[in-house]
Amino acid sequence: PARQTPVLETRGICKSFGALRASREISLDLRPGEIHAIIGPNGAGKSTLIAQICGTLKPDAGSVHLLGRDVTHQATRMRARAGLGRTFQISSLAMDDTVLQNAVLGALGASGRPWRFWKDALHDRTLTETAEEALLRVGLEDLARQRTAELSHGQRRQLEVAVALTLRPKALVMDEPMAGMGPEGSRLLTGFLDQLRQEAPILLVEHDMDAVFSLADRISVLVYGEVIATGSVEEIRANAAVREAYLGD
Ligand code: ADP
Ligand code: MG
Repeated sequence: PARQTPVLETRGICKSFGALRASREISLDLRPGEIHAIIGPNGAGKSTLIAQICGTLKPDAGSVHLLGRDVTHQATRMRARAGLGRTFQISSLAMDDTVLQNAVLGALGASGRPWRFWKDALHDRTLTETAEEALLRVGLEDLARQRTAELSHGQRRQLEVAVALTLRPKALVMDEPMAGMGPEGSRLLTGFLDQLRQEAPILLVEHDMDAVFSLADRISVLVYGEVIATGSVEEIRANAAVREAYLGD
């Protein structure tokens, strides 16, 4: 059967920092309904890859495609508006704002309205409803009026997912969403991502191998800026080069 158009695709992207080749001709795709995990040691180039997909870094060569369109030269904001949602390795939340305010600001960004209206946004009915809906979906509705700084680490990560959801994304890119979470938080988020993939396929950079092995439809292994293998969980677990480079035996 003909292959479905990928939701997201990189074709041969390269990125160097001086002499360091952080991305070496990376070609991968994200297909409808799937979770595609990216694993690899620290410094392998995972965050650099994500930055090029989301548009905060420009590749030296190669291209990025979103929903079949070449977005290589599009600004981050335009990619977001086209349906590319993301969560960050380092939190981007405003700690002094409430949980709801963070989600409303996310909804404002997603709406494409200019940022100078952010004060009005906090009283905007539509944006507030979008934000509340996203909080409900990640189970934070009861904490909406709390200051974000008072949340647990795991709850903040859930809030970041909620902020990404205010976009009603068509694809999600997540950089280590489980990092620093306890077992209960990881379990909850794993269950949530498992359902979410139907609505928005997920490119998931993650070190938590239990989560990766339970969630991923496919896994790509990145080592020194290069994809050394892509395959199913079984294929990756059985791959000798992968075991040596990353899985540690
Ligand atoms: P990972 O997310 O897999 O841990 P990164 O993508 O953060 O890896 O980094 C890949 C490599 O590129 C590392 O060696 C890192 O030090 C380097 N690097 C990342 N960003 C920059 C930058 N802006 N300038 C110089 N070197 C960078
Ligand atoms: Mg990283």
